[in-house]
Amino acid sequence: MPAMTGKRGLTCSKRRCFESELSHRFMLLIIKNTEAVTPQSSGVRDILIAAEKIAHIEDHIELPLSLAETIDGTGLIAVPGFIDGHVHITGGGGEGGFHTRTPELLVSDAVRGGITTIVGCLGTDGTTRSLAGLLAKARGLEAEGISTFICSGSYGVPLQTITGSIEKDLILIDKVIGVGEIALSDHRSSQPSIDEISRIAAEARRGGMLAGKSGVVNVHLGDGPRGLQFLERIIAETEIPSSQFLPTHINRNRKLFESAVGFAQRGGYVDFTTSTVPHFLDDGEIKCSTALRQMLESGVNVNQISFSSDGQGSMPDFDASGMLKGLTVGRVTSLWEEVRDAVLIEKIPLETALRVITLNPAKLLHLRRKGEIRPGYDADIVLLKKDSLTIDSVISRGKVLMRHGDLLAKGTFE
Ligand code: ZN
Repeated sequence: MPAMTGKRGLTCSKRRCFESELSHRFMLLIIKNTEAVTPQSSGVRDILIAAEKIAHIEDHIELPLSLAETIDGTGLIAVPGFIDGHVHITGGGGEGGFHTRTPELLVSDAVRGGITTIVGCLGTDGTTRSLAGLLAKARGLEAEGISTFICSGSYGVPLQTITGSIEKDLILIDKVIGVGEIALSDHRSSQPSIDEISRIAAEARRGGMLAGKSGVVNVHLGDGPRGLQFLERIIAETEIPSSQFLPTHINRNRKLFESAVGFAQRGGYVDFTTSTVPHFLDDGEIKCSTALRQMLESGVNVNQISFSSDGQGSMPDFDASGMLKGLTVGRVTSLWEEVRDAVLIEKIPLETALRVITLNPAKLLHLRRKGEIRPGYDADIVLLKKDSLTIDSVISRGKVLMRHGDLLAKGTFE
């Protein structure tokens, strides 16, 4: 009996073979019938992914069954993959001696937290941790399936660099997109002068412009009474615009938070840290989700706000005399937990709250193909369960890394 012949003269078995080869070669994946929040609310849609990019978003996309892997998105919300702009991917800490150095990030923790893009930075210890190590770790995480970038520079000033200058690092090293975290208003900082910080920001600005990158200076703010004073003065007294800086940990106490409201109202970006522990909150830290609601109620445009996790950083607890009382490790999974709390507890609309970990960091870090579900953009998508807003699946550059809570890419050493 002759084999049945398809439209183009291929037998059905040959046609299936051809289609599956096409599907394999172009890694076609279709998410059917999902509620898309891109982060604009876009209704129930089908999303077609080809290789690493989003190809189409339509009401209905029909492809022959064997041509694309299909995910049924019924009961799920598709949102852009999360961007975490401040993670100590090589570990941090050490403020209580060598045994308090914190461990490196595992890619599985990022995936469990829905994070598909990470910016790594050094922390307090710039001696036993290096920018070379940071760059190597970022490349490793990228090979394991997520997108990574790093900040050049260090906590202390003068800054560490890879090539000898911040400007050259930004221009010559693809993964370097910014500078920091540089510590200010903190007893662990190197007590840099305002002129030193101005010059760093100027060099970062020039390097960023020449490389087509943001060159943003990530500034760690401590509990010190000077707060944002240095940044306010640099913006007032030099030509450097407020957008050159991203002050972080601004929810760490009420006074800093209030001054950050003014900073953001005048057009500056502000970054909240999601990792915390109960005694920090007891001591006056404002829970991230609550801080977001309060800042929005103060009239700050949501475009000025981002969240980052400070993942793998140490969260040391000092007494009044500066002695270390205890230490815990920051968690990248806190990033989504706080946005979820912002929606479920603080009643901020999902499309607004989502922006602080998708569109906003993509814009301020100049990540041009990130932060939105849009044709031509990287296929970084998190599928949330509609009822609980918990993470069901994670897709990073078109590859499914987690499905129904099960990790499909567990990382090299797990
Ligand atoms: Zn910090």
